[in-house]
Amino acid sequence: MKVVVIPGDGIGKEVMDATMLILNELDLGLQYEFYEAGDQALQKYGKALPDETLEACRRNSVVLFGAAGESAADVIVRLRQELETYANVRPARALRGVKCLYPGLDLVVVRENTECLYKGFEFELEDSAVAIRVITRKASERIARFAFELAKKEGRKKVTALHKANVMKKTCGIFREACRKVARDYSGIEFNEYYIDAACMFLVMNPYRFDVIVTTNMFGDIVSDLTAGLVGGLGIAPSANIGDKYAIFEPVHGAAFDIAGKGIANPTAMILTACMMLQHLGYTEEAKKVKKALEETIASGKTTPDLGGNLKTKYFANEVLKKLKEAP
Ligand code: ATP
Repeated sequence: MKVVVIPGDGIGKEVMDATMLILNELDLGLQYEFYEAGDQALQKYGKALPDETLEACRRNSVVLFGAAGESAADVIVRLRQELETYANVRPARALRGVKCLYPGLDLVVVRENTECLYKGFEFELEDSAVAIRVITRKASERIARFAFELAKKEGRKKVTALHKANVMKKTCGIFREACRKVARDYSGIEFNEYYIDAACMFLVMNPYRFDVIVTTNMFGDIVSDLTAGLVGGLGIAPSANIGDKYAIFEPVHGAAFDIAGKGIANPTAMILTACMMLQHLGYTEEAKKVKKALEETIASGKTTPDLGGNLKTKYFANEVLKKLKEAP
């Protein structure tokens, strides 16, 4: 089985190096093929997503992605659309040992990944600019069903839809109707909904009332950074883009140019992202082992600066590797 690996820009490369240390140790017989994409690829080839990279993604079904910088819209947003990975799954789980606002929190944001304002339909009209928000019944029902199925599979109790149907009556209206319709097929799972603005307040004040959140593309992008902040920040927030044929695994964070090149990025988000990939490929036990090694390392006080420690990316990864090797 081949995995297409795209480290990308900024800290993408640094956290990918750290993650490959761990993946190579597992020796699962997976073949990792490296490809370029992002700002540097744009400079080098004139294309942020070179044809060779896109073709490699199309030939294989699993992509492990680091980060794209200024060219993110032409790389990761395009890849999600090209490969029809319609569900962006972004868990926010408080890890043992991480000092955070909400210990014990364990929720997951399911974000529609193919439409909304991220469709890229933007136009300039003299001194104005216009963006078109596309919301379809098909994609809304598909993402709602995905969220309920995920809840069922993970034994979660509640799905909450976030929208702004009182203002965006047509687009959010369709999304709300689709969620309500799908909810009727899942009598064992509670369903409720909030307007996105109120939900942000509730999330900050008492996030424990949420379990699975389902929302549209841009709201999902914003709210998943917020939920990452509730459990310790972007340094520990993984994500998966899932479709019927393809899956792209990438951390919630981007290229983080403010810390790139300093060797201080936290690779936990990328390593947990790789764990989501392992789970997807059926390596459930291996994923659990890596997560345990990560949590034990963090709980022992060995962390990167974003979590209050002083370890550099490489040294932190080596500590996780050590724990992994010690595991029975
Ligand atoms: P994007 O829009 O592509 O998500 P962004 O420019 O909003 O990217 P991010 O890269 O997501 O920015 O990160 C925002 C900030 O969070 C960074 O500037 C950095 O300080 C911090 N951050 C992100 N990822 C990490 C990480 N892995 N380790 C430590 N700090 C991080």
